[in-house]
Amino acid sequence: MPDATERCSVAVIGGGVIGSTVAWQLAENGYRVTLFSEPAVEHSTTWVAGGMIAPWSEAWPGEGALLDLSLASMRAWPRFAARLEENGHEVITARGSLAIAADDGDVADLHRVMAWLEQRGEPVAPLSRREARALEPGLAPSMRPVFQVNDEIAVDNRATLLALRDRAAAAGAILVERRINDLASLPQDQIVVAAGPWTSELLPELRVRPVKGEIMRLARRSFSAPPPRSIVRGWVRGRHVYLVPRPDGMVVGATQHEAGFDTTVTAGGIRDLLADAEAVFPGIADYAITDMSAGLRPVTPDNIPLIGRVDDRTLVAAGHGRNGMLLAPLTGSAILAELDGQPLAEAAAAHPRRFA
Ligand SMILES: Cc1cc2nc3c(=O)[nH]c(=O)nc-3n(C[C@H](O)[C@H](O)[C@H](O)COP(=O)(O)OP(=O)(O)OC[C@H]3O[C@@H](n4cnc5c(N)ncnc54)[C@H](O)[C@@H]3O)c2cc1C
Repeated sequence: MPDATERCSVAVIGGGVIGSTVAWQLAENGYRVTLFSEPAVEHSTTWVAGGMIAPWSEAWPGEGALLDLSLASMRAWPRFAARLEENGHEVITARGSLAIAADDGDVADLHRVMAWLEQRGEPVAPLSRREARALEPGLAPSMRPVFQVNDEIAVDNRATLLALRDRAAAAGAILVERRINDLASLPQDQIVVAAGPWTSELLPELRVRPVKGEIMRLARRSFSAPPPRSIVRGWVRGRHVYLVPRPDGMVVGATQHEAGFDTTVTAGGIRDLLADAEAVFPGIADYAITDMSAGLRPVTPDNIPLIGRVDDRTLVAAGHGRNGMLLAPLTGSAILAELDGQPLAEAAAAHPRRFA
């Protein structure tokens, strides 16, 4: 492994939120970075995402190691966002989130999640109907509020990606729009594979599979109800929907299917999203649909990403599943620490060789 003081050259493969963050962190710390990515940014999962930085409301009983990793990254987000916003990019679109339920089964499921979080001492607070109405007057009166989390934020995923690439370039990273098919042909000393759901094409021994998610973007019209101010997560008769505020509307997501690399937006997917979103926030019916897309969450067998060294020349930063935006700061720090020869203890659960 090269000594950090040699400031070795590094090829980062993949210009989504993960590769761009890694490229920025490494370039800023003196590594000579080339960031290779396929030209069409809209094909990245990052371009499609919702942008919730939401470790608690994304948490699931039993996934404690993932929550610990997410919380470590969450702690880094305020400074990360502030640095991205220094150059005029507006990244943060909302603060706080609430979880609401449609029927008894949904309430029971959400209570189970809340009880697990409370047991861990996490900052979730019960939410009354009166409090929910005061926070979000546009919510359907039939929905039953369960809990709120004040410390979560939402970011504009697309603005975040553009800001990251700007930051990486300003720190000296060279951005090359090219697909890489053969790692051995690269001249750089070290390689970081951050190819999202396509990672196993370059490193077949690592198991990262695509899990499709359909999502839509809606714009407020002059006579529409204002969008929610917080992230709203609805559990609607066993399905999940979220409404993520944007300055001019909201993002509504997301379906979840095992469909290989298919990114077709289906009528059934959009029907379900619209039905559930309207059950949560009836005013949505007046909004204009501006974008419908599908992305591929890069998922590992245990839902924990793969971050670290694979061999003497190769590192991986991939498999961030439904939390890639959230986990970006920690991933950048972990790859930097690994190259510096001082692996980050907080990222130990994400060691890429843990399945071997
Ligand atoms: C519908 C949906 C909603 C989501 N919402 C959220 C959310 O609210 N919060 C959150 O934290 N996460 C969310 N996620 C998850 C998050 O989007 C992903 O975890 C994250 O974007 C993964 O980033 P990445 O950089 O690893 O991959 P990507 O963004 O896919 O980037 C990989 C890049 O590598 C390039 N590439 C691939 N192979 C090669 C190659 N051989 N050579 C060169 N370039 C290559 C690709 O073209 C792409 O640009 C969501 C995902 C989906 C699908």
